[in-house]
Amino acid sequence: MNERWRRPLAVTAVEPDPAGTFTAGDRVYSNADVTLADEGEYQRLREGYVCANCLEPHEVPFPKACSLCGFPIREQQSERLQQAFKGEKWVGPRTSNSDEFQRLDELNARAARSGIVLPYGGRGR
Ligand SMILES: [Zn+2]
Repeated sequence: MNERWRRPLAVTAVEPDPAGTFTAGDRVYSNADVTLADEGEYQRLREGYVCANCLEPHEVPFPKACSLCGFPIREQQSERLQQAFKGEKWVGPRTSNSDEFQRLDELNARAARSGIVLPYGGRGR
C-alpha cells in the first residue's frame, strides 16, 4: 500500500439504483450508484488508472484488461464512463450550519408548545 496508485478509489456512498435491477439465470442483481469523494477521484477513472467496472486501481493507465475483473479498460472505459456518469449532486447536509441550528431551535420551540400526547395503543377506540 505504499504506491499512490494503489490507493482505493475514495467512495462517499453506494446506493442501489432502483432502475438498475436485472436477472441472470435465477438470480437478481442490482446496479448501484457510486458517489465518489471528489472530482479528483473521477479524474482517476477518466485517465484510466481505475477500472470503471469494478473500481480496481492500476499502476499503468488503460491496461488492455482489468487485472481483477477482466473488463477491457483500453477499449471500453470511456464508453462505460459516459454511460455511468450521472452528474454531480450535493453530498452531506442540505443546509448550512446556521440554517440547521435555526431549524433545530424552531423544532424545539414547537415541541415545547405542544402538549398533546397519545399513549401507545390509545388510538381508534
Ligand atoms: Zn475491473
